[in-house]
Amino acid sequence: MSGPITQADALPSIEIPTSPDGPAFVLFRPRHSVVGGTDVKRTLPKRQRRTIGAWCFADHFGPEDLDDKPGMEVGPHPHIGLQTATWLLAGELIHRDSLGSEQRIRPGELNLMTAGKGVTHSEESSTAKVTALHGIQLWIAQPDTTRNEVPRFEHHDALPEANFDNATATVFLGSFGGATSSARADTPIVGVEATLGIGSSVLELRKDFEYGIIVLEGMVAYHGQPVEPDMLAYFGIGRDEIMLTAREPSIFLLLGGEPFKETPLMWWNFIGRTHEEINQAYLDWQSRSERFGSLNSRLERIEAPSPYWL
Ligand code: MN
Repeated sequence: MSGPITQADALPSIEIPTSPDGPAFVLFRPRHSVVGGTDVKRTLPKRQRRTIGAWCFADHFGPEDLDDKPGMEVGPHPHIGLQTATWLLAGELIHRDSLGSEQRIRPGELNLMTAGKGVTHSEESSTAKVTALHGIQLWIAQPDTTRNEVPRFEHHDALPEANFDNATATVFLGSFGGATSSARADTPIVGVEATLGIGSSVLELRKDFEYGIIVLEGMVAYHGQPVEPDMLAYFGIGRDEIMLTAREPSIFLLLGGEPFKETPLMWWNFIGRTHEEINQAYLDWQSRSERFGSLNSRLERIEAPSPYWL
């Protein structure tokens, strides 16, 4: 799923002064959007912060009381050059793709689709009785070494946990706190859902990684600075730990990685390097080229807008 990336993702950031040559710390406000009939808070990308490691997109949806609504529904649409990672805190979704995958996802599980040179997928509401939906949709830019390969899909329902003083973490991508996810990672990267109890906790970081924190429930503070729900707290490279504090039990994502060395060009649901590549993907999707395969969905196929540079 996705929505158009516009200039409106550029609300002012809050720069928190650190020591003159110390590691960066920047807070960004979210932008509200609607994707698949659901309100989302887009925390990444920002004009001043396009990537964190290879993480390049984050849409937080819910918590939403579904009552009789279907919840998140995103019809068949294509991707190139990125991985989609779906993570839920409540509810259930069905992933379908042109590889033939049909996979239910529940809280604590990871759906990871690697688009490579092209794939089509849909996100559909579950037929199960689900009363609420809460989750986050993440994208990871693929490096040049893998971004033209064939697409793949993985589901992980047994992810490792790491324990810290006053905090627990589920590691869904990469390694953290001695736990390693078996999910595919094309670049040095980490993705963790952490639960922080009332009080403080010190998390060990890698100095060669940059990190982002997105609060999904509750609120955490860093050096007395509150990180409110849906704000993106960016931590530049050079830290070997951070101490976070919570006044209520809080859940946040910690996303990190080696700063992405390439410059991704992101348009609609595509990530390439040049306008020509994006144009070709656009034309291939609009002409229903075999490049993107096909899938059966009761939802309507999503047409691409024209690239603004054409
Ligand atoms: Mn998608």
